[in-house]
Amino acid sequence: MENRLKFLYAMQIVDSQLQEVIELKGDLPKVVEELEIKVDDIKTKMKELNNTIKQCKIERDNADVEIIDLAEKIEKYKNQQLNVKSNKQYDALTREIEAAEKKSVQLEKDLEKYEGQMEGGKKDLEVSTKLLEQTNDELNERKKELREVNKEHEKEELKLQHQREKLIPRIDKQDLERYERIRKAKNGIAVVPIKRNACGGCYSRVPPQKILEIRQNSRFYTCEHCGRILVSDHIVGLINTIP
Ligand SMILES: [Zn+2]
Repeated sequence: MENRLKFLYAMQIVDSQLQEVIELKGDLPKVVEELEIKVDDIKTKMKELNNTIKQCKIERDNADVEIIDLAEKIEKYKNQQLNVKSNKQYDALTREIEAAEKKSVQLEKDLEKYEGQMEGGKKDLEVSTKLLEQTNDELNERKKELREVNKEHEKEELKLQHQREKLIPRIDKQDLERYERIRKAKNGIAVVPIKRNACGGCYSRVPPQKILEIRQNSRFYTCEHCGRILVSDHIVGLINTIP
């Protein structure tokens, strides 16, 4: 039982140190992650804008070709009108000309619309390009900072991770689950020593009788107030004996 408590408390110490290292990095990892998402979003938007511009250009060119076609047709009808034999034929050609002119006017309008869309798209693309540049600069800056912080604490973090991996097989699976459960619920601290007759986690008083029992190191005792596992000074003293 003593060993079960000892290894669990050792785990707590390692995890608390790891938490300190992680806290030193602050919000940098999150900032980097958010900037990466932002860069991806801008790139996606730019891709969409490029597609829109491309599509508008195709539509505009099509309209352009059709307008030229219609102009040629109108020209042809007008020449035919000079040689027709009857009013009926003449009127039929007039109707063709009117229809072609009407269509041509509509196409001109469409053409302007597509050109407007292209211009708008190009402007949006310029804004996005600048934003992408800025965001990329900021991302690279933050990444550099994070790399430096990581480098600074890399050795310590690796050492602690290694200690953690070594401890895991020495801890009973159910004890570990219980430990992780409490740790998750109690701000990373699941096992605490008794300090001045109080729980080292929430500082509420531990009854003298219970302290005596805890000193037996014969079973798990939890703080009545916060639910953390309480360990005696004896267990705390054993930590340094772990190879
Ligand atoms: Zn407590």
